[in-house]
Amino acid sequence: MQPGCLAWYLSPEEVAYALDLGAARQAVKPPGLSRKRLATWSDELLSQLGTLGELAVARCLGLDLDETIYTCGGDGGVDMKLGDVRIAVKFNHRWPNCYLMVEERVGDSEGSLRDFPGGVAVLTGSTCDPVHGRCNCEERAASRRGWLMYIHGWIDGATFCKVAVKRDWGYGGRWCVSTDQLRPMHELFAYAKQALPYR
Ligand SMILES: [Zn+2]
Repeated sequence: MQPGCLAWYLSPEEVAYALDLGAARQAVKPPGLSRKRLATWSDELLSQLGTLGELAVARCLGLDLDETIYTCGGDGGVDMKLGDVRIAVKFNHRWPNCYLMVEERVGDSEGSLRDFPGGVAVLTGSTCDPVHGRCNCEERAASRRGWLMYIHGWIDGATFCKVAVKRDWGYGGRWCVSTDQLRPMHELFAYAKQALPYR
């Protein structure tokens, strides 16, 4: 956990809202679009965890969550906008050292990663340790209690493409940066300031 990492509490009502939206988003995805790489988590749970992360970031930035349910094509990886800055929210429940990851694509080259969504990416997380077999996201989701999310920080695309390293945990290549390479959230407001008006 880095200085500047924010703990953000989502109430039981907010958790229920995000879980239902995440499930609804996953339900309309064609089966071929499965993101599943490990048997550990269902596609539905992954979608729900991603939506919990989005909600925490939206609340933190004072933005509305995009409730659109995309049946095809998706949102292009952009989850919300702060001024003119496009923001993609990522979730990684590894703790305490987690990674902001972007899938490797054919045609990626240094300085140009096809899957970085443009704008900036924000990393959110929870406090699991799946590497050592400890993840309680499924039970937590089932209980629908409040959820303390962590907002680790953000990085812009140009910097990410420069500093990300390729790793493979056995389920495909990923471009990764660790939490200490992220900038604290309050700097995102300054970064977006040129893109005002921001309410
Ligand atoms: Zn977990």
